Amino acid sequence: MPADHRQLIIIGSGPAGLTAAIYASRAALDPLLLEGEPSSTTDQPGGALMTTTEVENFPGFPEGIMGPDLMLAFKQQAERFGTELRMEKATKVDLSARPFQIWVGDPDAAEPTYTADAVIISTGARPVMLDLPGEQELVGHGVSTCATCDGFFFRDHDIAVVGGGDSALEEALFLTKFARSVTVVHRRDELRASKIMQERALANDKIHFAWNSVVDSIEGTTTLEKVRLRDVLTDEVRDLPVTGLFVAIGHRPNTDVFKGQVAMDDGGYIVTSPDGSLTDVEGVFACGDVQDTVYRQAITAAGSGCMAAIDAERWLEAQH
Ligand code: NAP
Repeated sequence: MPADHRQLIIIGSGPAGLTAAIYASRAALDPLLLEGEPSSTTDQPGGALMTTTEVENFPGFPEGIMGPDLMLAFKQQAERFGTELRMEKATKVDLSARPFQIWVGDPDAAEPTYTADAVIISTGARPVMLDLPGEQELVGHGVSTCATCDGFFFRDHDIAVVGGGDSALEEALFLTKFARSVTVVHRRDELRASKIMQERALANDKIHFAWNSVVDSIEGTTTLEKVRLRDVLTDEVRDLPVTGLFVAIGHRPNTDVFKGQVAMDDGGYIVTSPDGSLTDVEGVFACGDVQDTVYRQAITAAGSGCMAAIDAERWLEAQH
């Protein structure tokens, strides 16, 4: 089968990719958007918002909106202007020459599935999870990876944050605005976070620390009820009754398929031009969490998707 050639292919269907699709289709670039394939609760087409319940901080929705409904609206808006969406996952890419080549399905197939003049990468990042039974089922029902998104729902609750880095302490400090208490569960007796964050957290009366501790189990039927902590030095276990568990043990960008093809930082995030979406490969652009180690919000991802579409449009225009 000869490869299907497109002017622009967008890989990834979160707020960044779909916003890029809205702009690119309105610019008559006829984009094809590869949505990805469902593989787990936290890795599926539509990105992180598909596992979020209520989204209250996306401008334009004063009453809030459910994450999946927001993503459906993004999708419908992209389709309205002619974006073609396919529930397919890129398994291999060759960005070393133009047109760029993209494989879907068997990565060893001789011919790529698609070729494209320009590519926008918007495959996002996923939070690292604890991988404990019940964790995936309770995402959105007590288990969260984003205090900015979900903290508001835990007013006067007792909650726990797992991790000892800057993210964990930032989440813990933010959560003290709402929670009755926040227990930071850390596997060592020394924090990885920067000194200033440590000082702030240690000085906050609402924050307690469970040192040398790991979460052994997550318990609750429809919503989280408690976690069982294990002291890694003594093996002693104890129950911590909490209705919220914020997992903040790092993020991994979804960039495996692009390794060796575009410049990445040490954490595997794609490096983009300052104030833009250009990668080190001409004609390849990146937007959203796949290149953002700082903000990681739906609205910032959408904004960077808009930038990528405009950058791609201008670049294609210059080529023709
Ligand atoms: P991080 O620095 O890699 O910290 C991850 C934390 O999670 C570590 O304390 C680690 O424990 C713990 N951890 C990892 N895997 C675990 C597991 N399976 N079970 C239990 N604990 C586990 O990640 P991050 O906090 O997300 O920060 C990422 C980068 O962004 C850092 O460079 C950070 O400085 C930066 N950042 C900066 C700010 C800020 O400046 N305001 C805010 C957020 C993030 P160990 O310590 O034992 O390894």
